[in-house]
Amino acid sequence: MNNFLTDTTRYVNKALKYSGLTDGLANKIVTCNSTYTVRFGVRLRGEIFTFEGWRSVHSEHMEPTKGGIRFDLATHAEEVEALAALMSYKCAIINVPYGGSKGGLRINPYEWDEKELEKITRRFAQELIKRDLISPSMNVPAPDIGTSSREMAWIADEYRKIHPSDINGSACVTGKPISKNGLVGREEATGRGVQFIIREFFRSPELLKLAKFDNNLSSKTFILQGLGNVGFHVSKFLTEDDKVKLIGIAEHNGGIYNEEGINVEHAKKHFIRYKTFENYKKATFIKDSSLLLKRKCDILIPAARENVITEKNAGDVSANLIVEAANGPISFKGNQILNRRKIFVIPDILANGGGVAVSYFEWVKNLRHIRFGRLEKRRNQIQINNLIEAIETMTGKTMPKKFKDKFTDGIEEIDLVRSGLDDMMIDGFQNVKKEFLENEKIPDFRTAAYKTAIEKIALSYDYIGL
Ligand code: NAD
Repeated sequence: MNNFLTDTTRYVNKALKYSGLTDGLANKIVTCNSTYTVRFGVRLRGEIFTFEGWRSVHSEHMEPTKGGIRFDLATHAEEVEALAALMSYKCAIINVPYGGSKGGLRINPYEWDEKELEKITRRFAQELIKRDLISPSMNVPAPDIGTSSREMAWIADEYRKIHPSDINGSACVTGKPISKNGLVGREEATGRGVQFIIREFFRSPELLKLAKFDNNLSSKTFILQGLGNVGFHVSKFLTEDDKVKLIGIAEHNGGIYNEEGINVEHAKKHFIRYKTFENYKKATFIKDSSLLLKRKCDILIPAARENVITEKNAGDVSANLIVEAANGPISFKGNQILNRRKIFVIPDILANGGGVAVSYFEWVKNLRHIRFGRLEKRRNQIQINNLIEAIETMTGKTMPKKFKDKFTDGIEEIDLVRSGLDDMMIDGFQNVKKEFLENEKIPDFRTAAYKTAIEKIALSYDYIGL
């Protein structure tokens, strides 16, 4: 069986061979600082049910630590530790000033109704808040598999009840609903970040050559695994903005395929309504969705869960490029096979960092208590109107309305969020690319990403005198 935590450590150890860190420091970086296990009872349906959950803190070289909370029957302490480690590395790559953390609750969220789930989430949150494992200055969760803005709102409310005088309380969790101190663009952020990374890849001739691609992104096809938050958004943006053709979607209970292209909004509506792709009229249904991972396409985007490409199927993957939108979708051995087959992989710790980047913006907004762009928007509009007036007076001509409207529209918060996200993702990508291209010994892009991350964390430990 593939072990996610062992594989994550193997990826780091591989990268450590190319950095000059001492064994002691390397060991400190790899080791998970702490994992708290909680078991709590909740009275539901006339009886008491006991739930088990974890919050793991991988690295406190920067605080608060940050990482999502997943609600999933398959979650366990080691999985949460592996995910917490990935958070440390991804924050380092894109320069988000956080350490890594992660949480999990072993539960099938679909077995409980909303009221029951709220009770369970609030109890779980109480246990973590009591121990500063949810706190604006110490540890800030966000959504992950099986959770969304709804659960984050419950958690924030629970924090407020326990710490009513904490003026920064709403920064204790990110990914909240907009009306509850959330941030526009957070829900789409991870998918949007994956899109920005793919665009940047297609602007890199040296990497395109390795993937045997030309730079025409709109002529490419892709297959997606997992039509959840991340998978839906990345597919929507790639198909709508970049005209990349989505030809297959794999879900847990079957997938669909259509060479002519799939409309992701339409497919998602069907999936939400019927909870299956069976009888979907606009594509062929494939009962065993894992077969879609092997179908010919240019880009494969696993956006569901870990260990879906292993030594068992890596030899059959026929995409030129895999972009890990999910955390840990490729096992260590599977990755070795892909490397041998020269299939280019953009790793999770770079590709899916968009979520934590925008979570960082949300946290900053909560601490500032004012939305981005609030102070300067009107002032900028006045300045632009003055400029247009000056140009018109000097030239004696009237500026066409379509240009005028574009200039005077003003910048909305979402524009600032997307611009900040784009900048952080490109920066991260460029750092990893530089590491990869400038050091011939580094065998693959993932190792370059890990090397970039661990050296930044090491520097941070250096500054705090470790
Ligand atoms: P989600 O629960 O919204 O979506 C996951 C989807 O994958 C669901 O539709 C589920 O049915 C599907 N799925 C589960 N098992 C599958 C299987 N075996 N085959 C095909 N489909 C399967 O979760 P999400 O938030 O979109 O997260 C997806 C992945 O992205 C996870 O690995 C998560 O850790 C990672 N991630 C999420 C975020 C975020 O902001 N939500 C950020 C970074 C990374």
